[in-house]
Amino acid sequence: MAPKISSSTDSIDRRTSTRVFPRRGLSASRLIIAALTCALSVGNVFGAGPQDNKRAALRDVRKRGPVVVGKIPNYKVNQCLSAGFRNALRRIHHIPSCQDLFAALDANGIEVLGNTTYSLAKSDFEKQVCSDSNAFTTIGGSKVWLCGAFGWLSEQDAAKVLIHEALHGAGLGEYPGDPNGPTAAEIDEMVKKHCGF
Ligand SMILES: [Zn+2]
Repeated sequence: MAPKISSSTDSIDRRTSTRVFPRRGLSASRLIIAALTCALSVGNVFGAGPQDNKRAALRDVRKRGPVVVGKIPNYKVNQCLSAGFRNALRRIHHIPSCQDLFAALDANGIEVLGNTTYSLAKSDFEKQVCSDSNAFTTIGGSKVWLCGAFGWLSEQDAAKVLIHEALHGAGLGEYPGDPNGPTAAEIDEMVKKHCGF
């Protein structure tokens, strides 16, 4: 079934349209608006505006890189994780439709990637899941297991996989575990289309 992705601009429109002032209080309202605008512009000059905060958050997550739990002794998996992670961050930051995939789940993609921990799949069970996967995770969880095959992906495909898993972290279910959810292939297609692959 096709996933439901609602545009994040809907909520912005709704928020601004509730700012209605009564006629009588118009001049007072104007004053309040003027004061607010001043406060906002002062904030932008001397403090951090929302865009600056977003950029700072991106810088922090990019500087720290992916959070790895335990050791990933597989050089190729490590390399793909670092490159794919940077690539995924860049896409989420610069492509609004890619941000919208997370916004539709009430999440911020940069934060989700920053809060995710990555491990190499090692146990027998984990290796069994890896027989037909590059990586796997739990719905709403913050831990992603990387399979050996992940190390053979291109940087772009690695980024695609990391965004796919991050969407699960943000709460996106998947068929058949979630009977109404999109299939893995549909999520791949959605990531490809919305994140500029
Ligand atoms: Zn999936």
